Amino acid sequence: MYRTFTCGELRLADVGKTVVLAGWVQRVRKMGGMTFIDLRDRYGITQLSFDESINAEVFVEANKLGREYVVQATGVVKERYSKNAQLPTGDIEIEVEKLQVLNPAVTPPFTIEDDTDGGDDIRMKYRYLDLRRTAVRKNLELRHKMAFEVRRYLDEQGFLEVETPVLVNSTPEGARDFVVPSRMNPGQFYALPQSPQILKQLLMVSGFDRYFQIVKCFRDEDLRADRQPEFTQIDCEMSFVEQEDILQMFEGMSRHLFKTIKGIDLPKLPRMTWADAMKYYGSDKPDTRFDMRFVELHDMFHAHPGFGVFDGAAYIGGICAKGAASYTRKQIDALTDYVRRPQIGAKGLVYARVEQDGTVKSSVDKFYSQDVLQELKSQMNAEGGDLILILSGDDAMRTRKQLCELRLEMGKQLGLRDPQKFSCLWVIDFPMYEWSDEEQRLMAMHHPFTSPKPEDIPMLDTDPAAVRANAYDMVINGVEVGGGSIRIHDAKLQEKVFEILGFTPEQAQAKFGFLMNAFKYGAPPHGGLAYGLDRFVSLFAGLDSIRDCIAFPKNNQGKDVMLGAPGVIDQAQLDELQLKLSNTKQ
Ligand code: ASP
Repeated sequence: MYRTFTCGELRLADVGKTVVLAGWVQRVRKMGGMTFIDLRDRYGITQLSFDESINAEVFVEANKLGREYVVQATGVVKERYSKNAQLPTGDIEIEVEKLQVLNPAVTPPFTIEDDTDGGDDIRMKYRYLDLRRTAVRKNLELRHKMAFEVRRYLDEQGFLEVETPVLVNSTPEGARDFVVPSRMNPGQFYALPQSPQILKQLLMVSGFDRYFQIVKCFRDEDLRADRQPEFTQIDCEMSFVEQEDILQMFEGMSRHLFKTIKGIDLPKLPRMTWADAMKYYGSDKPDTRFDMRFVELHDMFHAHPGFGVFDGAAYIGGICAKGAASYTRKQIDALTDYVRRPQIGAKGLVYARVEQDGTVKSSVDKFYSQDVLQELKSQMNAEGGDLILILSGDDAMRTRKQLCELRLEMGKQLGLRDPQKFSCLWVIDFPMYEWSDEEQRLMAMHHPFTSPKPEDIPMLDTDPAAVRANAYDMVINGVEVGGGSIRIHDAKLQEKVFEILGFTPEQAQAKFGFLMNAFKYGAPPHGGLAYGLDRFVSLFAGLDSIRDCIAFPKNNQGKDVMLGAPGVIDQAQLDELQLKLSNTKQ
């Protein structure tokens, strides 16, 4: 037997037992005639003690150990003199009688401690060592638990987990595909699924009724903190349901996760229309942990012309930062620089401070009387001590997005975005389409199988851009954790939607013909959604990036620096696939 206990389980009650532990040497502390070693495994850390006066031979052995050696220690559990309240095993130590090196280790390139000295790049290169760190391993333990509870909940609700293939063809989530050349069919390529969207709809046609899958999806997009080229979805679909059934079912799943994992009783989720989310938060994924809603000010300022920038602006919006009137000029200048950054692109920022006596001091004082500024104060519902921040612009949507960034930044600066506080909601009634300047056509906001709201169907002919979809997102703390829709199950309506998206009947047939064909054989009304498991876990873990809850993530260039992927392949392999590379440095 390599061990009788793990490094995380011995307590005072075990004092006197002879035990065998195995693990990694985290740290060696030499103090005269005593040496102490922190021995680590997945379950925790236990202190080994070596006393020269008790066992000189083992003491000498212990002093030869280096960091990350794998050792086996046999000894007796003793109560510690100086206890460590930080460690669950901190009341005891093992007085070692026998020590065996199972494997020596070269010195690792960074310290394997919570506060490591290793930078991002080196830790990614040696990810297997990074994963030894408790902080990282904890995230994966959490991920396991969440996936397990998802399966438990969905199983109890009668869902079947069905695997769908990874080598498929293009799926319609609107990102670029990763492709895989087919050796047996030269010149032809598989695409990796951006989601199992079509397949899960086909499973509904097959009568599976309630499907789910915890599944890898692949999208060749530019990477961000909450995006990886391959990521995991909790993908779900149900038959004979309306939107309400789906919202209830998956609100239930989220409630189950919050309760079992976090011990939190999730209140009934509020619902916000997409239009309101844009109007009040400038985002379809509002962070509702704090208020600071937008107030539209164009009517008010246009009634009091004087300041050219506002007079000509199509949209003027303000937010009221409670208690932030103490912001110095320098802090406000920094906010102005923030919104002027090219990624945000605002021209400037107007502020108004509400003094304790109620008077308002503003950066545009010279254009407005105190009466107008008092009107501003009342529109903003502001009181003494508050700071009002205003952005304006020609394009309402663009200005709202800028104001959204400012609101989030203010929320951060004022400590209103506590990662341990959760605010969840459904955003509903998304538009069916959004205009793409790049493609000069309407694009599906969710995907082309999303059903319009029945009452909006007549507008498909007259004003498609105004048609709302039976589509919904679950948003937690400003993160879209899940989203889906009721699907079109009527082949005629589907054809019409393809037509508005600019597909000729031939193109639609070539791309999605098999789905439309399948629908002819009796498709039940159906709908579903998918959660991003990585995002859900990182929210629960309070992480900034989803990378830290993925065992082997890719970096911002989409590379796995540990494996050296992607890599070049040799000429023979290229020849076999009948592929020729052009202009590529090999
Ligand atoms: N396939 C969709 C997505 O990946 C989710 C859904 O509509 O069920 O966003």
